[in-house]
Amino acid sequence: MAHSFVYIGGIMKDMLRSDEADLLLHGGRIRTVDARDSVTDALAIRDGRIVALGADARRLRAAEHLDLDGRTAIPGINDAHLHAAWLGARWPHLFFSEDPHGHQPQGALVRTAQERSHALRTAWALLAELGITSYTEPGIGPGEDDGETGCFGSAMMDAYLELHRGGARTARVTLLRLFGTLDGAADLAAFERGIAAPPPRTDPRWLAITGVKIFADGIPPMSTAWVSEPYPDGTAGALLTTGAGSALDAYRRMIATAISRGEQVAVHATGDRSIEEFLRVFEERAPHPDAPPSYVVHGDLARPDQIARARALNVGFAVQPLIARHTRQWAELQLGAERTAAAWPLAAMIDAGALTTITSDAPIATPDWRVSFDASLALLGRDDAGARAAVLRRMTLDPARQDGAQTWKGSLEIGKVADLAILDADPVEPGHDVSGIGVVRTIVDGRTVFERDTARVD
Ligand SMILES: [Zn+2]
Repeated sequence: MAHSFVYIGGIMKDMLRSDEADLLLHGGRIRTVDARDSVTDALAIRDGRIVALGADARRLRAAEHLDLDGRTAIPGINDAHLHAAWLGARWPHLFFSEDPHGHQPQGALVRTAQERSHALRTAWALLAELGITSYTEPGIGPGEDDGETGCFGSAMMDAYLELHRGGARTARVTLLRLFGTLDGAADLAAFERGIAAPPPRTDPRWLAITGVKIFADGIPPMSTAWVSEPYPDGTAGALLTTGAGSALDAYRRMIATAISRGEQVAVHATGDRSIEEFLRVFEERAPHPDAPPSYVVHGDLARPDQIARARALNVGFAVQPLIARHTRQWAELQLGAERTAAAWPLAAMIDAGALTTITSDAPIATPDWRVSFDASLALLGRDDAGARAAVLRRMTLDPARQDGAQTWKGSLEIGKVADLAILDADPVEPGHDVSGIGVVRTIVDGRTVFERDTARVD
């Protein structure tokens, strides 16, 4: 009985506050990334959620007003494949940067709990500065307990849990467990042992442990992507999985086991053969209805028929146009001009309506989504508003779909969480580089987590 009084009290309080907001954004362009790509001019936030848009928002009494002053608000960026622990431990060193002779850190990067926590906090501060409000940490777990860098083992999972339980909330994290090695071998027995242990309990709004990462093959420039048409030296790459009767049996059983346990499966697959076998497992068995969509990470050499089948299966692709830019010439040595021209088929993925997320794979490439945005337009060979809106959607709403969280994040719609970035200019307007646009403010769950120092010396 007492409980229902408390409950009714809560509803009453909410009704009394229905003409109030904590924060009102107005005076600029708000790109909602809703189904119609609507643009509005005001947005009201209450208790971390978007409660009204446009004229309805302007009618509310707001405790705080934020004048956009002609600037643009977009949904917070969701980098659906970003190694935050590794990024924070290496920062400011990236594998591909504008300075090809830049220092590359070697060996163990983090050794103590304090260093692991510091690496995550470093990454989170950087992401807040970039307007990134969600990301996927793709692969943390026992498979990397003896890993060289210290960035991907069980101890890093503990670091995540400690920050999470301590209430660190500047980014929403989706995390995939890893039972093999990063970019290396994965044994079926270790995978089956690992996945049998349930993931730690967390608040999925802030740390969602949705599935597993499996490494199928390597990369085309190293001629380690598993392909149907051989490389110039006659090899065709191979699977990295071991155990069972064959590498292929092990690979298929890992995917099938994860599906049967209701886990999301993310497979590092660049060659068309490894993508093919991934799709075949999904053609044979339907995923659990509650599991977020499974997906191919990279998908460099995905064929048009595979993209169409992925679309039909609700299997996605997490792609990296910046890595394409950095490795194109290198890949051409192995693939030749014609196959390279067909590689990284972002346009085909978008045109087919396949679930596609545009990601950085930082610290491989920069986590700066603005640079990735320009690389995406270059890959599409287009610079019109439609192409730009399509790229923005694949950095915001489609990643939320990949997270299985599109009902409550990823776009600026009533009822969704107030995760957004305020930019100096509109990235959807053609004719200028997105990499030149400044991030003014980042808001997560209605709270400002980054604000650019706007003091100007005239
Ligand atoms: Zn990666």
